[in-house]
Amino acid sequence: RAYNFCAGPAALPEEVLLQAREEMLDWHGKGLSVMEMSHRSDEFVGIAQEAESLLRELLSVPQDYKVLFLQGGANLQFSSVPLNLLGSHSSADYIDTGIWSNKAVKEAARYGKIDVIASTADQHYHRVPQQQELKFNKDAAYVHYCSNETIGGLEFDYVPVTENGVPLVCDMSSTILSRPIDVAQYDMIYAGAQKNIGPAGLCLVIIKESLLDREVSSIPTMMSYRVAAENDSMYNTPPTFAWYLSGLVFQWLKRQGGVAAIGEVNARKASKLYAAIDESRLYANPIAVANRSWMNVPFTLADTGLEKAFLKEADAAGLLNLKGHRSVGGMRASIYNAVPEAAVDALIDFMHAFEKKYYP
Ligand code: PLP
Repeated sequence: RAYNFCAGPAALPEEVLLQAREEMLDWHGKGLSVMEMSHRSDEFVGIAQEAESLLRELLSVPQDYKVLFLQGGANLQFSSVPLNLLGSHSSADYIDTGIWSNKAVKEAARYGKIDVIASTADQHYHRVPQQQELKFNKDAAYVHYCSNETIGGLEFDYVPVTENGVPLVCDMSSTILSRPIDVAQYDMIYAGAQKNIGPAGLCLVIIKESLLDREVSSIPTMMSYRVAAENDSMYNTPPTFAWYLSGLVFQWLKRQGGVAAIGEVNARKASKLYAAIDESRLYANPIAVANRSWMNVPFTLADTGLEKAFLKEADAAGLLNLKGHRSVGGMRASIYNAVPEAAVDALIDFMHAFEKKYYP
């Protein structure tokens, strides 16, 4: 198999794919695949519950939080968050650090007054706002931020602390499960699955139970966190196969030693790749060192005329999906949990050799 640096849907652990293949025609001697089971069957309910309890274990999710397995991706949460959490409040606070947090602002603004309380747009999103720059509104319904901007390759090196107990909501799509977190520092976390969780089609929501009574009355039933929680995320037919595969990823992650162990590997992967970029004349990354993403490493080439050759030769060397997001250009290596350290080593070797050949 090639090394896959795609930002999402991203690489899955080979062991997980092999196990899914093994179980494809005949899951645990039942004579059918997980895709063909009723979501109400004892077998699937068992699969679903095991996935949830593994996730709870991996992230030490406190008892007073609900874990929901939803559809619609993280994009739907941009609308679900205000519809579920604005309640009787007239506004919510948002921190703007790039393309994804910006999309969340635009969508939420359809449902209420949104105040962008800090933005680093005027600094090209090369750093995140510091805690003291966050000018909270006392009566905001919640504060929303994105802990890792997948496209910009920018991440928070701290968890914002709100004032007056205003709930903190985090889009953790591209960094969840990459290292330990303290769930209790957040009131709600959401994450599209297709990076560190599993295949596309699922979106995870971890939410404090006490927030489940704020939804607006016109909320579509399918978007209500309360309804999802009351029905164990099975109000309708859930994406059963994605849920099952995510459970296999959680088992795999536990076998790796959990989030603490994978966090050490991820830190090492990121630091050697950034070091290779910083040491070269050809490659560059503009992000403030403290805010460089461990998961998404964008870089530019000093001679943009070399980009096509870089991508073509990388592809031929089995290093796939290194093209940067269409909105920003350049390159981007996404190095999620399932991308092995050997892939990063191979990429660095390739980058050195390419520089030597074309930009000596
Ligand atoms: N938020 C972040 C940080 C993302 O990286 C993405 C997708 O890459 C999204 C939201 C949107 O996710 P989805 O495609 O699941 O709607």
